[in-house]
Amino acid sequence: MRMLVTGGAGFIGSHFVRSQLGGAYPELADASVVVLDKFTYAGNEANLAPVGDDPRLTVVPGDICDGPLVAGLMARTDLVVHFAAESHVDRSIANAAEFVRTNVLGTQTLLQAAHHAGVGRFVHISTDEVYGTIDRGAWTEDEPLLPNSPYAASKASSDLLALAYHRTHALPVCVTRCSNNYGPYQFPEKAIPRFITRLMSGQTIPLYGDGLHIRDWLHVDDHCRGIALVAQGGKPGEVYNIGGGTELTNRDLVDRLLELFGADRSRIETVPDRQGHDRRYCVDITKISEQFGYAPAIPFEEGIARTVRWYSDHRDWWQPLLDRAEAAA
Ligand code: NAD
Repeated sequence: MRMLVTGGAGFIGSHFVRSQLGGAYPELADASVVVLDKFTYAGNEANLAPVGDDPRLTVVPGDICDGPLVAGLMARTDLVVHFAAESHVDRSIANAAEFVRTNVLGTQTLLQAAHHAGVGRFVHISTDEVYGTIDRGAWTEDEPLLPNSPYAASKASSDLLALAYHRTHALPVCVTRCSNNYGPYQFPEKAIPRFITRLMSGQTIPLYGDGLHIRDWLHVDDHCRGIALVAQGGKPGEVYNIGGGTELTNRDLVDRLLELFGADRSRIETVPDRQGHDRRYCVDITKISEQFGYAPAIPFEEGIARTVRWYSDHRDWWQPLLDRAEAAA
C-alpha cells in the first residue's frame, strides 16, 4: 500500500509518519510513505530525521496547490492522509490569505486529483475549532459548523469540500476533528511549547485575557492513533471527532507548567485577549469510541511531564526556530 501524507514534516504529520514507520499502526504496517510538504516555517526536515534512512519513506518538497505535482503523486497512491495546513490562529488574524490558499484551495487540489486517480481512501485532518465555541456539553459530529477565526473558517471550508467530494463523486473521504494537541516537535509559537521554551529561557509566559478559556488537551500520539484507526476502517463520508483528553483553563495549564518548573505566578504576564477568542471547545468522542474502541491512553500529567523533558533535551531543535523567527520579525 502506498500512503501520501501531506504536511508530513509538521508537528502532527511527522508524528504520524514516525509512528507509522516505527510499526505503531499494525493495520497500516505494509504501507510505504510519501510525504508532500512545502517546508513553510512550520515544516522541518529535523522532524523526520529519526526515520530519514527508512527506505519506505520518500520526501517530496512541494505545494499542495501545485496541481500537476499533486496529480503525479496521486496516480500511484492508495491512501491520502491530509495534514498540510496553515495552522496558527494568531497568524490567520494577522493575514488570512495564505490560510485560504493552502487550507481551501490546496485541499480542493488534492481532492480533485484523488478523485481523478481513484484513490482508495482520503483522510482529511480537521479541527474541533470548526464548530465554534461551546459553553457547556460537547459537540457531536452532526453539529453545525460555526467557525470564528479565519483559521477555523478555512478549515471548515475544507471540511465541506471534502464531504462534497464524497457526496458528489463518491470519493471515499473521512474527516477527523480533533481537540488541541501537545507533545514533542510542536513549533514553539503554539501555547504549550511557547510556555515551556520561555520558562526554559527565563522569560515570562503570556496569558490571554482572564485566562479562563478552556481547551481539551490531547497528546499527539493519541490523536495519531485515532487517525490510523479511521484510515484503516472509517466509513466513507463520515466525520470522526477525536479528543477526550484533559479540559483545562489556560490559567490551570499555566499553573501546572509553573509547578513542573518550580516557578511561581510572578512569571505570568497578562496580555490583551485574542480577537474573537473562542471560550471553550469540547468534542463528544462517542462515535470513534464505539466504532473502534478508541480512548486516549496518555494521561495529561504523564504527557506534559514527558513533553517538558523532551523540550529540555532538544534545545538544539527549538532554539534555531526561535532565532529564525526573531530574525524575520
Ligand atoms: P503544523 O503547522 O505544525 O504543520 C503544517 C505542515 O504543513 C508543515 O510541515 C508545513 O510545511 C506544511 N504545509 C503548509 N502549507 C503547505 C502547502 N501549501 N503545501 C504543502 N505543505 C504545506 O500543523 P500541525 O499542528 O501539525 O497540524 C496538522 C493538521 O492538524 C492541520 O490540518 C491542523 O489544522 C490540524 N489540527 C491541528 C491541531 C493542533 O493542536 N495542532 C488540532 C487539531 C487539528
